[in-house]
Amino acid sequence: MEDKVLRKLFLGFIHIHILHHAKDHPIYGVWMVEELREHGYTISPGTLYPILHSMEADGLLSKEDVNMDGKIRKYYTTTVKGAEVLVEARKKAYELFKEIND
Ligand SMILES: [Zn+2]
Repeated sequence: MEDKVLRKLFLGFIHIHILHHAKDHPIYGVWMVEELREHGYTISPGTLYPILHSMEADGLLSKEDVNMDGKIRKYYTTTVKGAEVLVEARKKAYELFKEIND
């Protein structure tokens, strides 16, 4: 059962996933939903899109509209600021993992 606290925690993990993948290659919403599902997170596009928008507004992601056969698909890439946040988050996640894994 996912309670409020877990959802809050997972939201942080999801942010880290997004920064990590969008640093590798431009990502779009549906791709990210699938990727997260493979990691066991059930998130709907309706929940993910506002996260992508707010990360863009915070300067962590940059957005590019790409025309796919007449349909606009929004691609997101991690910015320099986003990459810095990712480095910091990775350090903290690793520290925590080491501690709770002992
Ligand atoms: Zn991932």
